[in-house]
Amino acid sequence: MSGDPGDGQGGDRRPVGLLVRLAYATIDDFRLRFAPNLSRGGVFVQTRAPKPVGTAVAFELRLSTGEKVIRGEGLVRWVEAEDPGATPPRLPGMGIQFTKLDAASRLLVEAIATGREAREAGGAATPPARGMTTHPPGQRPPVATPEPSLAPADLAPPTLTRPGATPVPATAGTTPTQAELDRPHRVEQLLAGVAPVPIPLPAVPEPITRPSRAVIGIDLGTTNSCAAVVRDGRPYVIPSREGHRTIPSIVALTSRQTLVVGHLAHAQLLTNPAGTIHGAKRLLGRPFDSAVVEELRGRYAYQVVADAEGMATVKLGPLTLTVEQVAALILREVKEVAQNHLGEEVNRAVITVPAYYNERQRQAVRHAAGLAGLQVERILNEPTAAALAYAYGRHLKQRVLVFDLGGGTFDASVLELQDTIYQVVSTGGDNFLGGVDFDARITDLLLRHYEKQVGTGFTGDRVALSRLADAAERAKCALSERTVFPLQLPFLALHEGKPVSLEVTVTREELERLVGPLVDRSIDVCRDVLLARGLAVADIDEVILVGGQSRMPLVHRKVAAFFGKAPSRAVHPDEAVALGAALLAHSLESAEGVVLIDVLSTSIGIALPGGQVKTILHHNTELPVRKQYGLSTTRDGQTEFELVVLQGESELAAGCEYLGTVALTGLPPGPRGMVKIVVAFEMGAECLLTVSAREMHTQRQVSVRMSTRPGPGGAQRQVARGTRSGAPAIHGGLHATVTPPAPRTPPPARGHRG
Ligand code: AMP
Repeated sequence: MSGDPGDGQGGDRRPVGLLVRLAYATIDDFRLRFAPNLSRGGVFVQTRAPKPVGTAVAFELRLSTGEKVIRGEGLVRWVEAEDPGATPPRLPGMGIQFTKLDAASRLLVEAIATGREAREAGGAATPPARGMTTHPPGQRPPVATPEPSLAPADLAPPTLTRPGATPVPATAGTTPTQAELDRPHRVEQLLAGVAPVPIPLPAVPEPITRPSRAVIGIDLGTTNSCAAVVRDGRPYVIPSREGHRTIPSIVALTSRQTLVVGHLAHAQLLTNPAGTIHGAKRLLGRPFDSAVVEELRGRYAYQVVADAEGMATVKLGPLTLTVEQVAALILREVKEVAQNHLGEEVNRAVITVPAYYNERQRQAVRHAAGLAGLQVERILNEPTAAALAYAYGRHLKQRVLVFDLGGGTFDASVLELQDTIYQVVSTGGDNFLGGVDFDARITDLLLRHYEKQVGTGFTGDRVALSRLADAAERAKCALSERTVFPLQLPFLALHEGKPVSLEVTVTREELERLVGPLVDRSIDVCRDVLLARGLAVADIDEVILVGGQSRMPLVHRKVAAFFGKAPSRAVHPDEAVALGAALLAHSLESAEGVVLIDVLSTSIGIALPGGQVKTILHHNTELPVRKQYGLSTTRDGQTEFELVVLQGESELAAGCEYLGTVALTGLPPGPRGMVKIVVAFEMGAECLLTVSAREMHTQRQVSVRMSTRPGPGGAQRQVARGTRSGAPAIHGGLHATVTPPAPRTPPPARGHRG
């Protein structure tokens, strides 16, 4: 991601600004003549003053008229020396690998590359581009030495025309002269500093014309995201631009009104908490007035508002971003990092989501991926991904429990592994249990120390509070490695005009006392998840710990005490999910397929009059599943009705999450009660819901439209109001008549198969 020099965050990586003045006056000339110097991965710029290899550059390629054609950022990956002895004389230059292009430039580069490929496919002897092209993973892109297929004569006029290409019509006044073309492009340092390339807000899904060869696995995490890929049969994590193994799932607006993502965004979390969006994954696909969003609003320093359709949306200075857009910016960063690393186009991915994500949240991830220019090959549940990382290729026969304690949430899933079959048998979790809750306990401790020291409550502002929370997290992480941590916060706040500093020594023992009840809650969830299937702790062969917070020694100890065995150390807690996703991506492309069998993490039902819920698909039901439900009309001549679909375990509609409204229209008019409809709920392997309906008398398919947005009124509010007033929640006043609700499946007691 670009450094924003104005914020001084770029450090040594601050790009050098380059203005490249080309000899061409028209975009057509540019497209035809410049094509050999351009590929999707980069550009070769002729210049007598190339920058040293490794220089980060922010560049603009402009026509001789001053019109900008390509704008972006990149890294100098090779420098080519002048060769006056060559025929024709070879000009010096530098190959720049793109790290970022603005949207218009990307389209132009894509169009030029596609055009060249079409010509190549058509048999024209077009020289390959000298910009970055595909190269093996882990290797540098090929150095653009003259292509062997290029006879020297092919390079005239100087290096830019292509053999076999349609001659460029000499348009008076636009086509450059030979002398002009002989000149290197003029490269000037941009004196006014680098204009940061604004990250365009993704607004519409980017069309994918050519699915990429590479398919990556992405763990779109609450705190950090991670990408992985399989090469030569081995999965590995793709490092971030900065060389880290994960990318913070953070988007921020800098003081220069530039959007930054990842580590750069994280850098300003402390100084500009209101302009830094973190933890957005928890808001994804949720209505503004849902209980979860209400709870989270109090925790985040940035503003969460409702959009016109009632969905949670975030404010970032003057910008209003949908949560899908925030996720798309993170996914686009991951995609670009992967492209830079692999040196080839990446537009396909397997993306993981928490097992508890509902239908709408999964759709939101798909939508975000589309905005980021990624085609989702599969949405994969995080625990299953972790199990894949643990067991892939090991031909195991085991029952495992994946214990996933991340930054914001906790998930526990039992899976039965049998060679290539990964079957989830029970799953559960707590949406409000994660690392941030641990941090909050330490922050409270620090606030108590402050009060004791100063004699009054905390007087600091938001930035000071962020510093406290950050210090609390640092102390927590440090105490996973050591037993004592001295914490120093100089000039934290002002009290009676004087600066107050805080110095506290936190011990592991103290931390464990504070957070013990939180770890106990995670163990309670494990107990419930086992009970739901009649399993005992002895039935679990291995416990796999994932999620950053699971690194805490107390978590290890409590898990070991509960399960009677130490948890497995076979997978990396931060990387297992991405590696599992990459392995699934690999298996989808190869013959070594795996079979994934999942269960429904949260029950799905419909709202009934009086604010009750009728469960249609039950929690822990094996997927895919199809259940039918019978309805009949309650009014003479009724031709349509609506069903409010909810997800949750509560018997009351108000306690469940609104999923959508199904509108059934085009029913044949008939006397009340005589028109009967069978509605089928189908949940596929990826937990995506389809609803269909058939009118029983004529057997005609009824048109079904599921709208997943609550609308400005908020269906959740509607349902809740219905509950209080006793008004019917199902429009049209229908009642269920045919199929009784499916009984909750008793947990089958399964023997130990390990
Ligand atoms: P994740 O969402 O899996 O990236 O987990 C992030 C959470 O893990 C954050 O709350 C971190 O503070 C926490 N975390 C990371 N490393 C450690 C550590 N060594 N000890 C305790 N917690 C950690």
